[in-house]
Amino acid sequence: MTPNVPATKTTYLPTIGIECHVQLNTKTKLFAAVGNDARGASPNTLISHICVGMPGALPVLNEKAVELAVGAAFALNSQPQAFSKFDRKHYFYPDLPKGYQITQYDQPIAKGGYVEIEIEGEKKKVGITRVHLEEDAGKTTHPEGMDFSLIDLNRAGTPLLEIVSEPEIYSPAEAKAYARELWLVMKYAQVTDGDLYHGHVRFDVNISVSDKPGMLGTRTEIKNLNSFRSVAGAVEYEIKRQAELLEKNEVIVQETRGWDEVKQKTTPQRQKEEAHDYRYMPEPDIPPLKLSASFISKVKEGLPELPSSIRESLSELQVDPKVIEDILDREELLDRVLEVKRITKSTEHTRRVLFQLLDDPDSLSIHVKDQIKVLEMISIGELSSTAAKAVLKERIKIEEDPRLIAERMNLLQISNESELEIMVREVLADNPTAVADVKKGEAKAVGFLVGQVMKKAQGKANPEITKRLIKKQLDV
Ligand code: MN
Repeated sequence: MTPNVPATKTTYLPTIGIECHVQLNTKTKLFAAVGNDARGASPNTLISHICVGMPGALPVLNEKAVELAVGAAFALNSQPQAFSKFDRKHYFYPDLPKGYQITQYDQPIAKGGYVEIEIEGEKKKVGITRVHLEEDAGKTTHPEGMDFSLIDLNRAGTPLLEIVSEPEIYSPAEAKAYARELWLVMKYAQVTDGDLYHGHVRFDVNISVSDKPGMLGTRTEIKNLNSFRSVAGAVEYEIKRQAELLEKNEVIVQETRGWDEVKQKTTPQRQKEEAHDYRYMPEPDIPPLKLSASFISKVKEGLPELPSSIRESLSELQVDPKVIEDILDREELLDRVLEVKRITKSTEHTRRVLFQLLDDPDSLSIHVKDQIKVLEMISIGELSSTAAKAVLKERIKIEEDPRLIAERMNLLQISNESELEIMVREVLADNPTAVADVKKGEAKAVGFLVGQVMKKAQGKANPEITKRLIKKQLDV
């Protein structure tokens, strides 16, 4: 027991499971040939007789959604099920006009798998229970002070993948790491565009605490979290709230709670008076989904490179792992880094462009050929990294060869040895004291002499070559 915790206080072990809804990156809805991207669309413009549940309307399964779900299964280290089926799950909500959601119940498209996370250098696998396809509902809004509600069905029928984790997460940090890794994996697998802001990836977090190892306490569910920070915040708050209730011998109510981002606390939403009776029944309008071995293997072969393999291939850069995670969060920048790596096959260029892009993401707008030209000029000593920054900035503004830009801006370094040798000779003759110091072994004096050559060269002497030439002429 840690000293700052009173001896009487019980230790409570949290257990956390996370359900994640991922919006699939399809052009159209799960069962209707209607546009899927509701961002910026006027309410109720992306709907059809299928989305609004007109009697007799027949849903048709979107093949692309199936393909993405199969890809997701492999990305989650799972196997897609050759046989799965759809079921009706009944709710009575105003934004669900059919009165039921089409989802998968006892035969989901994937079972098992895991997501690997890293906490303080320790790797850990969080198990996946199941992955299933389902449609989203519409959206209800309650205008303030009005006696009516508004329904927008644009989102009704949007294809979702629900990914359910095993309750194998035990801290806010693990919950956050799991949420981010799952998001990254789904984004890199191109299953989703990963737009967190528009709720294209959302997390429902189940949390309980218990003072008896191996025994689970009463859980609460915090729904619809759409940032990794709010996942961590909600978990942290709930662990504390539940432990405090138990400490006071109070009862934890099994309920759904919401997350108040401003107050950083959870608030009760609705209690489960009894287990929901969803009256599951097989969906009669959609035949069971049977996937051929060739379909499955084709999807597997076409799977894009995933974060784990990208981390592996960038490990040769020997940069701080945090830098790699930063660039992984920004896929468009990472793509350029990998492109430079592929074209130049140079670790030095790849490392340099990684830092350049993080430092100035706008340089992504430059053609990759020009970006590589700048990298090559640095590596042969024509540009200092400071001068390279200026060249890149200018190149973003105007379409011009980087070398011409460097010349025009007078940024090219003098790397010509015979030119530098003359300057070095002059500087050595003018500074006998520093020369004597260098011969005595004072390293600082070398720096001083480099500075003098730099002055003579108006700041454009290549410092490395200059240093080498000084040492050579003084024979040290
Ligand atoms: Mn769901």
